[in-house]
Amino acid sequence: MKRDFRERVLYRLERKYGGKIHTQLVHKNMRELFVAVLLSPQCTDKQINRVTPWLFKRYKSFKDYADSDIEELQHYLSGVNYYKTKAKNLKKASAMIIANFGGMIPNTLEELMTLPGVGRKVGNVVLNEGYGIDEGIAVDTHCAVVARRLGLSKHRDPSKIEVDLLIKFPKRDWGKISNLFIELGRDTCKARNKECERCVLKSMCPSSEARK
Ligand code: SF4
Repeated sequence: MKRDFRERVLYRLERKYGGKIHTQLVHKNMRELFVAVLLSPQCTDKQINRVTPWLFKRYKSFKDYADSDIEELQHYLSGVNYYKTKAKNLKKASAMIIANFGGMIPNTLEELMTLPGVGRKVGNVVLNEGYGIDEGIAVDTHCAVVARRLGLSKHRDPSKIEVDLLIKFPKRDWGKISNLFIELGRDTCKARNKECERCVLKSMCPSSEARK
């Protein structure tokens, strides 16, 4: 694949969606970002944003989460898919952040991934959004669909897609790829119903169904 293709993809997406797009998970500080991202797998951002205002009002520190009554915490998270597991992970991760990291959210992927519920995707979003650090690329469903349709990966496994993207794009682009692909996935390159006619990549995408 020519480098030129990758550069043109990012150029067009940045022109359409902006240079630096941030997560749509509503948060006011690092702790809220961490909690929202931890809850986000298998959920839409809207689902998370409906739950977190009440959650953040009730629990104002990692100690609050660590000391929480698990049934009450589950109640607050009941609008989120897999809320029972996520409540357990949040409570345990909070205790570990206090015990192992002095109450600070770690700033390396390796350390973040010692926390329950934190895989590469969650860790990459926390690092990129919270610390501006790009150790990898967060591959969610939208990002995976777009990467495959653009011919940037043949894989279905997000961690393999991530490796393909890390190889194909220079490190300076890692931080923006995920959010740009997510925007495109939400806008036109939807998993079930792609709208190639409206897509800014329609003239160059190998999966385009737009009239040529
Ligand atoms: S042209 Fe179609 S398949 Fe290609 S990225 Fe755009 S919406 Fe997706």
